[in-house]
Amino acid sequence: MPFDLSSRLAERRAAHLYRQRPLLEGPQGPEVIVDGQPLLAFCNNDYLGLANHPEVIAALQTGTKRWGVGGGASHLVIGHSGPHHALEEALAAFTGRPRALLFSTGYMANLAAVTALVGRGDTVLEDRLNHASLLDAGLLSGARFSRYLHNDPASLASRLDKAEGNTLVVTDGVFSMDGNLADIPALAQVARSKGAWLMVDDAHGFGPLGLKGGGVAEHFGLSLDDAPVLVGTLGKAFGTAGAFVAGSDELIETLIQFARPYIYTTSQPPAVACATLKALELLEAESWRRDHLNALIQRFRSGAQALGLSLMDSFTPIQPILVGSSDRALAFSAALKRHGVLVTAIRPPTVPNNSARLRVTLSAAHSEQHVDRLLAALAEAWSELKGTEHA
Ligand SMILES: *Cc1c(COP(=O)(O)O)cnc(C)c1O
Repeated sequence: MPFDLSSRLAERRAAHLYRQRPLLEGPQGPEVIVDGQPLLAFCNNDYLGLANHPEVIAALQTGTKRWGVGGGASHLVIGHSGPHHALEEALAAFTGRPRALLFSTGYMANLAAVTALVGRGDTVLEDRLNHASLLDAGLLSGARFSRYLHNDPASLASRLDKAEGNTLVVTDGVFSMDGNLADIPALAQVARSKGAWLMVDDAHGFGPLGLKGGGVAEHFGLSLDDAPVLVGTLGKAFGTAGAFVAGSDELIETLIQFARPYIYTTSQPPAVACATLKALELLEAESWRRDHLNALIQRFRSGAQALGLSLMDSFTPIQPILVGSSDRALAFSAALKRHGVLVTAIRPPTVPNNSARLRVTLSAAHSEQHVDRLLAALAEAWSELKGTEHA
């Protein structure tokens, strides 16, 4: 039987689930040109506005002059260079953990950590709304894999009672499509009481949350015992690329020895680590970015609530507007685009069925005027959408 790709693609189209890649013609920022059209964008994860920061760019340029471009080899062969090592030490200090290990992407960091810690005969328990990379990691590990109800310590506890072998509990710190925080103190307590380890992936918390940008760990004051495995990504609020796992010396040594997604891949370009070192410095020191971002979040929420839009329980830069069906979410997003504003529609399977949404993300690079333009466009697009449905 030949592969029947065309009917698979046609089905996808018919279900309003077909995806396309908008073509960005310039650096990240609030005002972008996408597919030739100038738009005001609210969809990147550059929460602190560091992806196009002149000092971060300069650090990358200086880094390439000194270290060249390619990493050249895996970390265990001869690809582990000075900037990688310095960044790991800085990230350990930043997270208050004994050590940190650098990865090229968050997806790989998650595959690495989960598969190195659990395998056949063990158990991995995950929040059902965890990021796809965490769910994939759980499946790949070969451990008994089960999902507990979203952010529900009681549901976790009942699954822990049936767990076998080493047990890893895995949660997003900030849920990437909802913007709410995991109830980590409660989850950590349940996990500890049953002898399980908690792994927190705080891709969206590092940067925006905590007085110094330390994410949910800083927000909740999580110790190494509360969250023995702490993951952060560098392509979001850090504005660069890569990810890290922070934890005990033994955890990091275990990953270096056993984590295949760490061992069998080329190190990231050293200059990217130079850029991240600069981004980390700005992220910690320039708390005005967080203050400004929080003011924008408040401004957006009160404006959107006044319009009668359905927001979620989030005080983070992720501010989804719940719409319901996929075709309605697409229509809303298309109407906004006609008004010059870009907000992506997020549809199943990325989110549960009938919970398609517009995922608004705010950044410290936005101004109050930008948020007001978004609110004005939302008002118009929303009334157009309601008009077509009643007609
Ligand atoms: C984005 C994201 C990742 C993946 O990180 P990349 O560096 O983009 O591969 C992992 N976990 C969560 C929760 C994310 O939002």
